[in-house]
Amino acid sequence: MPLKFPQPPLGAATDVAVFHCPFIIDAPTAGELRVRQNVKVVVSRDGRIQAIDPNHEADKSTTANKTCVIVPGFVDCHVHAPQYKQLGTKTDVPLMEWLQKYTFPAEAAFASTAHASAVYPRLICRLLRNGTTTALYFASNHLAASLILAETCAKYGQRALVGKTCSDQLLPEDYVETTAGSLADTEVFVKSVYERHGRNGLVMPVVTPRFVPTCSLELLQGLGEIAEKYSCHIQTHAAESVDQVALVRSQHPELARDIAILASCKLLTSKTVLAHCTHLHDSEARTMAQTGAAIASCPYSNMLFSRAVLPVNRFRSLGVKIGLGTDIAGGHSASMVDSVRMAGLVSRIDGFLPRWDRSTDPREESGVQPVGDEEVVDWKTAFYLSTRGGAQALGLEVGVFEVGMRWDAVMVDLTWDEDDSADDTPRENEEDVEMKFERWICSHGGEQGVKKVWVDGKTVFARE
Ligand SMILES: [Zn+2]
Repeated sequence: MPLKFPQPPLGAATDVAVFHCPFIIDAPTAGELRVRQNVKVVVSRDGRIQAIDPNHEADKSTTANKTCVIVPGFVDCHVHAPQYKQLGTKTDVPLMEWLQKYTFPAEAAFASTAHASAVYPRLICRLLRNGTTTALYFASNHLAASLILAETCAKYGQRALVGKTCSDQLLPEDYVETTAGSLADTEVFVKSVYERHGRNGLVMPVVTPRFVPTCSLELLQGLGEIAEKYSCHIQTHAAESVDQVALVRSQHPELARDIAILASCKLLTSKTVLAHCTHLHDSEARTMAQTGAAIASCPYSNMLFSRAVLPVNRFRSLGVKIGLGTDIAGGHSASMVDSVRMAGLVSRIDGFLPRWDRSTDPREESGVQPVGDEEVVDWKTAFYLSTRGGAQALGLEVGVFEVGMRWDAVMVDLTWDEDDSADDTPRENEEDVEMKFERWICSHGGEQGVKKVWVDGKTVFARE
């Protein structure tokens, strides 16, 4: 079946676009799935939803077949773009060793702009055809390759927040930066992206210290100054694994913990997104809630490298914003649908893994609590986290279909399952559609069911 990615310039926006949808489904809040039938959606030239008429009489010019539903585009809150070719491989060692053995060398290859130009379009198209309309990217330490990533996102029409990573210690010689060089390149990167795409454009810059262990205090402080000067988003990793937490404590005996160190460097703000946070104290979660900082939960790589479950419901109840991420390539899949399934699955693990001796579990020493029944994440909540939850974590007007929001949307063909393909009759009721959508989300649906993807009202992918 041919795949189509419109090449730039993307189709010129008309004054308004009108979408006639047999069904639209979204999740305005955690645990709430909203199914609306025979909907007419009017989208303005700038990609915003102008009107939603939920009782529109279906006419012959429906945008979607009656076997399709339209849902908000997925928001992937944690992607390492230069690790794309490593996806699904090389996960046999603990985090700090994994970085040194596999990941830093893979990223160092992006010193070549030709390599970046070859890899990044493939990744972006992969994400788009999986329905990921927004991604928060870590690029590599290289200014040129990071700018290529930002421009490639814009070229293919993906909403993206892109960060040039920063590290001035503990990296291989061919990949480590000087403190001054890292700060200078970051400022050039931020200014360049703003100049190209505006302050609230489709592509936005993100100040990105890789994580505390690979950044000197001087670098962290300098990046905090840049983020404040340009009012930028900030992303990094925090409280990810036992070896990482111990390393931070040894490097910073006084402040000892990621949250305290980031806060002291102006890197904990309402525009900060911290990946993982599986080893976070409740008191630190409260600090994040007070500042408005968010967590990118990556359920697969959390199990793989953190060997811990993020207490999603508890941290949400403390007021922390949480979105989901694939964590390419610590994660195994480029599909946010897999992250949704995994979020529900790992939340069922009751307490620590059985082989751990609770009396000596280092996570107990660090104040991490075991998860319990109240931590179960149902599929509707996981879907919410992958759409509206992630949008709120990033401060974006997407992820839910309301007037004023942007039309970032995915058309899903509910007959993706060949055992179901003969069933092309119009949907009788909302319950039937909800059940079939649940099967797409929770069973083996994914890329093959995505028929069309829009960002800001423009078609960025179509399967014909
Ligand atoms: Zn990461």
